[in-house]
Amino acid sequence: MTAPIPDPGPPRLIRMHASDNVAIVANTGGLPEGTVVEGGIRLRERVPQGHKVALVDIAAGTPVLRYNVAIGHAARDIAAGTWVYERLLTMPQARALHELPMATARPAPLEPLQGYTFEGYRNADGSVGTRNLLGITTTVQCVAGVLEFAVRRIKAELLPKYPHVDDVVGLEHSYGCGVAIDAPGAAIPIRTVRNISLNPNFGGELMVVSLGCEKLQPQRLLPPGSFAVVDERNIADVGLDDGAALDVVCLQDEKHVGFMSMIDSIMQTAEYHLERLNARRRETCPASDLVVGVQCGGSDAFSGVTANPAVGFAADLLVRAGASIMFSETTEVRDGVAQLTARAATPEVAAAIVREMQWYDEYLARGGADRSANTTPGNKKGGLSNIVEKAMGSIIKSGSAPIAGVLSPGEKLAQKGLIYAATPASDFICGTLQLAAGMNLHIFTTGRGTPYGLAACPVIKVATRTELARRWHDLMDLNAGRIADGEASIEDLGWELFRLMLDVASGKRTRAEHWGLHNDLVLFNPGPVT
Ligand code: CA
Repeated sequence: MTAPIPDPGPPRLIRMHASDNVAIVANTGGLPEGTVVEGGIRLRERVPQGHKVALVDIAAGTPVLRYNVAIGHAARDIAAGTWVYERLLTMPQARALHELPMATARPAPLEPLQGYTFEGYRNADGSVGTRNLLGITTTVQCVAGVLEFAVRRIKAELLPKYPHVDDVVGLEHSYGCGVAIDAPGAAIPIRTVRNISLNPNFGGELMVVSLGCEKLQPQRLLPPGSFAVVDERNIADVGLDDGAALDVVCLQDEKHVGFMSMIDSIMQTAEYHLERLNARRRETCPASDLVVGVQCGGSDAFSGVTANPAVGFAADLLVRAGASIMFSETTEVRDGVAQLTARAATPEVAAAIVREMQWYDEYLARGGADRSANTTPGNKKGGLSNIVEKAMGSIIKSGSAPIAGVLSPGEKLAQKGLIYAATPASDFICGTLQLAAGMNLHIFTTGRGTPYGLAACPVIKVATRTELARRWHDLMDLNAGRIADGEASIEDLGWELFRLMLDVASGKRTRAEHWGLHNDLVLFNPGPVT
């Protein structure tokens, strides 16, 4: 076991902008009362790592500035050297969604970046997989146990015969029956499952396990025309009358007598697709074939200082290389909506950002909540006082490029550049929706630490602090804490992450893949259940 290493260095504060009247403590373990920090300020109490110190006397009612943004107003007079924590701040109202600057920012064009490639699996539709996986789609939760049983046997008995296939992934989920399937909100979970089945890492090999009586019938999940027909194989007994090559194992089919008949049927169908996947080989692809989703989870005050700015730098490199890069997490960007609408490439894109925010405001209001429901006890322990402060650190992941497009939850991406893919901030729901968008590589930053992973796509985890990177040395892929330690610049880490992305896209395994860690698919279902 590697114990946390005590920080022996001099007191270090990090201020994000010259106008800020607070800065955060960088030292592992925090700083004790009486420490004299830069500017000759004496700490009036112990301040934990990542937490804020008042740099000047802040009068009650005046703004507390971080990132040159008012993250709140002083709830009482705050003397210089005071620990500025959640209860000393009153949170500002969310910015209204009218009279926003629409596509007003005109950032200088980013210089194209050429010559970067990775080794990927080219699909018939032109998309590229970073892994060669058999994905087995399901129409309903009822079949999940049966499919899990079958997947265990496929992995043990079939997969060793097909060494060019990386893994078999059962796409179990909670949807499919017991839901108001014609309600407007149902469109989101249905298209999410559909589009995950079409993720580039599954190579276009569609295979579905269905129960038979569920509301989400196979032809509703994957209607003709929603997928490319890769061969003429047809399972006639699911009632597809148009000859579409949708490969379905239906557990309630009369031909299945006993459980083993179902398992045999799933295994036979799986073997057909394994043979086809096994014939594929990696080939050199330009970096522009990457579809990268970024998100953060278990955030702390360092997220917006180290890891997220490095991800933002790498995001700009991806845009320059012609790739697609998605940022998401609506409640974590809501407080920066004016920055986003200003950065939209066109007024139409700005209007789409507003449309998604408006929809989410109403969704939260229906549930009797607002965006302040986002922050967790861990966020606060890590120094983030409220959602405004968290949002400023979250948006930095998107870099500086114009926002080229907007996706609604569960939609499939068909565009290059920087994309705002509207999703909840919940880690597993965001990851699930980015998979549906067609993500072939995922970047995840964390300050508090989470062992997050996805079965369908490699996840590169970036630690915000050296202490976490040391303690979780076999779970984190990159340590952005070196930025706070003064050992590397944001640019250094951004380039390192970009090169690591190309390596992982080419087959280098992530820590989560090494241990076989992955979270469940968690669908976003804003519709009613019955
Ligand atoms: Ca998240």
